[in-house]
Amino acid sequence: MTASFLPFTRPSIDEETIASVADVLRSGWLTTGPKANEFEAALSVHCGGRPVRVCNSGTVTMEIALRLAGIGVNDEVITTPLSWVATAGVILAVGARPVFVDIDPITRNIDLDKVSAAITPRTRAIIPVDLAGLPVNRDKLHVIAQDHKLRVIEDAAQSFGACWKGKPIGSSFGNDSDFVSFSFHPNKNITTGEGGALVLPADIDPAACERMRLQGVRRFGEDGMDVEVLGGKANLTDIAAAIGLGQLKRLGEFTERRKALARHYFGHFDRNLACQLPPEDFENSNWHMFQILLPSGCDRARLIAAMRERSIGIGVHYPAMHLFTLYRRLGYKEGDFPLAEEAGRRIVTLPLFPAMLDSDVERVCSTLADVLKSLV
Ligand SMILES: *Cc1c(COP(=O)(O)O)cnc(C)c1O
Repeated sequence: MTASFLPFTRPSIDEETIASVADVLRSGWLTTGPKANEFEAALSVHCGGRPVRVCNSGTVTMEIALRLAGIGVNDEVITTPLSWVATAGVILAVGARPVFVDIDPITRNIDLDKVSAAITPRTRAIIPVDLAGLPVNRDKLHVIAQDHKLRVIEDAAQSFGACWKGKPIGSSFGNDSDFVSFSFHPNKNITTGEGGALVLPADIDPAACERMRLQGVRRFGEDGMDVEVLGGKANLTDIAAAIGLGQLKRLGEFTERRKALARHYFGHFDRNLACQLPPEDFENSNWHMFQILLPSGCDRARLIAAMRERSIGIGVHYPAMHLFTLYRRLGYKEGDFPLAEEAGRRIVTLPLFPAMLDSDVERVCSTLADVLKSLV
């Protein structure tokens, strides 16, 4: 092994951010406080002034959104099987049933044309996922949501910094009743170490969200306190918020660099390899990931091992979720969502992160071509 190992992603944390974390550590106040408030205000500006509350994970923001929307036992929530397990996990966590709808094979996001057929009298909400940072069609989504009176909880964990019609994801696209969930896990486009944020609909009191993230506690007067709902423990520390503030400053730069690297991939990728490339979207996507489908029949495990031997990290995001044991127990089985299953078997994530060099992209492309030829 000569070249240094190229992971599929890596966060970029600058010295100024590290110094701001040190300042918090010296300040005497570590948990949710002035930095978290400042981070929420900055996120709200990014989202066109909508209310935003930060939490300690993206997952918990979606669980809180479902609870605030009153979704629970006997309810159904529609989502995609091609996502991180958190997306459907939160539906189960509140006692509701996840109802999967197959993907569009080009965008790899939920196929909105198939949603109507999955709706029953119990359907209460839809959780669309912007896989790899490519936004689900918001116009179409809102027509469906309005027609069927569904609450929308956008799983925008991967699409922070992406746009729809020139406005950042998280903004209002004519429907103020949506929740939008972001994740700041280290693999995401900006990070707080671990963390997340929830953009709140106009009809939800931000104080109710604050109670959900901290034990349901409501305070009043100088010494008054009551608990009316069961909350959890999901508040973000000021340590994490300081990282987020430093990251948010660089969002534009990060997104531009990701786009440039994605363009470089398209320019250098050998189109004769029988791989399926992602849509060439340079208007909306934040290029959270550069994902390809391997040629059908290619041994993915062997390819990943061979790439690792050549110092290149390859990710798998994700196997189709309905085939995991937990979901098979609910009655889902092989063949239910053939397009998601096919993508789940063939998909790989190539390295893409802001600090990567153009020459790294070229190395990934040429190494992948060599390895694919050696495997057939
Ligand atoms: C990362 C991610 C989540 C969960 O975010 P956490 O901050 O890790 O809880 C949810 N959905 C999708 C699609 C993700 O990629």
